[in-house]
Amino acid sequence: MNGQSDFIQDSVIEQTLSHAVRKDRAAVEDIISKALEMKGLDLPDIAVLSTISDPELLAKLFDAAKKVKETIYGRRLVLFAPLYISNLCSNECLYCAFRARNKEVKRRVLTQPEIYQEVEELVKQGHKRVLLVAGESYPKEGFSYVLKSIETIYTVKVGPGEIRRVNVNVAPLTLEEFKELKAAKIGTYQLFQETYHRQTYKGVHVSGKKADYDWRVSAMDRAMEAGIDDVGIGVLFGLCDWRYELLALMQHIHHLEAKFGVGPHTISVPRLEPATGSDMASHPPKPVEDIEFRKIVAILRLAVPYTGIIMSTRENPNMRRETFALGVSQISAGSRTNPGGYAEGKDVLDEAQFSLGDHRGLDEVIQDITELGYVPSFCTGCYRLGRTGQDFMDMAKPGLIKEHCDPNALSTFLEYLQDYASEATKQAGFKLIEKTLNSMDEKPKSLSTKMLEAVRSGKRDVYC
Ligand code: SAM
Ligand code: SF4
Repeated sequence: MNGQSDFIQDSVIEQTLSHAVRKDRAAVEDIISKALEMKGLDLPDIAVLSTISDPELLAKLFDAAKKVKETIYGRRLVLFAPLYISNLCSNECLYCAFRARNKEVKRRVLTQPEIYQEVEELVKQGHKRVLLVAGESYPKEGFSYVLKSIETIYTVKVGPGEIRRVNVNVAPLTLEEFKELKAAKIGTYQLFQETYHRQTYKGVHVSGKKADYDWRVSAMDRAMEAGIDDVGIGVLFGLCDWRYELLALMQHIHHLEAKFGVGPHTISVPRLEPATGSDMASHPPKPVEDIEFRKIVAILRLAVPYTGIIMSTRENPNMRRETFALGVSQISAGSRTNPGGYAEGKDVLDEAQFSLGDHRGLDEVIQDITELGYVPSFCTGCYRLGRTGQDFMDMAKPGLIKEHCDPNALSTFLEYLQDYASEATKQAGFKLIEKTLNSMDEKPKSLSTKMLEAVRSGKRDVYC
């Protein structure tokens, strides 16, 4: 075992999985009841839940996940857009269109003025949060290209709008570089291990720096040591057995909790999607069926109730709708994965990273989730007020964070409705705001009413 990554204990995972033979109904129900206490689940419990196939037990699992999601997150859904700044890459990840040897992809590195234009487009749509994404190779200026790009994003102002939080998904950095990223005022640093299974990892990352498993799996340690206390982890589902990945993900979380007192802020659950020039992306080695994917989201919701779960536009609208109920708390919308895709107004498949499952624009997604009764949120309050890492979890666990999230969701949703929404979305949105207000306790209701009044009277960026 290697010192840097000995928190991923392969033998413990294998043993736990092999002991988790299908348990009787009563044992499974006990685990589900324990999960409803919202204190999380340990590895053997998670392994047992992953074996469920009986429709009645599955319904109980999904029901429990829905209850936990509603209790902790209410009906809010935070929205963001990915911003691909470059598809240059020196790695050879067999599943990705950006891999170095792929001749079918046109390479494109956005200049700072081009990044400005992309962000203008996103701001005009109503976005407030972006996730900056890049391949692992930067133009001449090296990593400072990423830092400059973040600076550019924060300078864009169009009418009443601007980007208020930049999250970042770039290759693992050194401690010094992470410190620079922190100084650039990022929100979350996000990085997916892709697979925690060492052999599988080796087989799919054939060359380039990313082939070093330990450098990647230890990235969050360096990020947190550098003071970035909101980190987002994830697995690329489809590469290895999803049951293995869930337990390894938990080991990663436990490691960060033990070392830094707080685990990841978010977990992402990308599933492998077709990508130009990748046979593997079209034929995943361990495909995850839809029902299993829903199980993954539900089990994660129960295992780590206070950690956000992110669902991207890799999934189609139906799967997205189903998983909102099961525990998803953040979604991307109106996404393009080709650098320059927003300003050009189109997906260009031979420049994009993978094909999307949800092609709808932001307003259409917002109207849809509003009609489903979810409150779209563009909130950036916690990050702006320094409620991150441990401070955030200290408020989230006793349920106090809701008192901020709900009013902030309503005020940023109203901002969106007034400044950007179509008439149909406005109508649905105003009704939902009223309905939500009426269902709130007195204290958050009165705070929300004041904040909504401020937005109605023309104030912007109102948060608590
Ligand atoms: N290059 C950096 C890296 O690999 O960490 C950061 C950006 S990379 C473009 C972001 C993520 O896209 C990867 O971590 C991977 O999980 C995901 N990805 C790559 N190919 C994919 C595919 N075919 N389908 C779905 N997601 C994919
Ligand atoms: Fe490059 Fe990231 Fe794609 Fe791998 S996943 S080829 S590192 S962009």
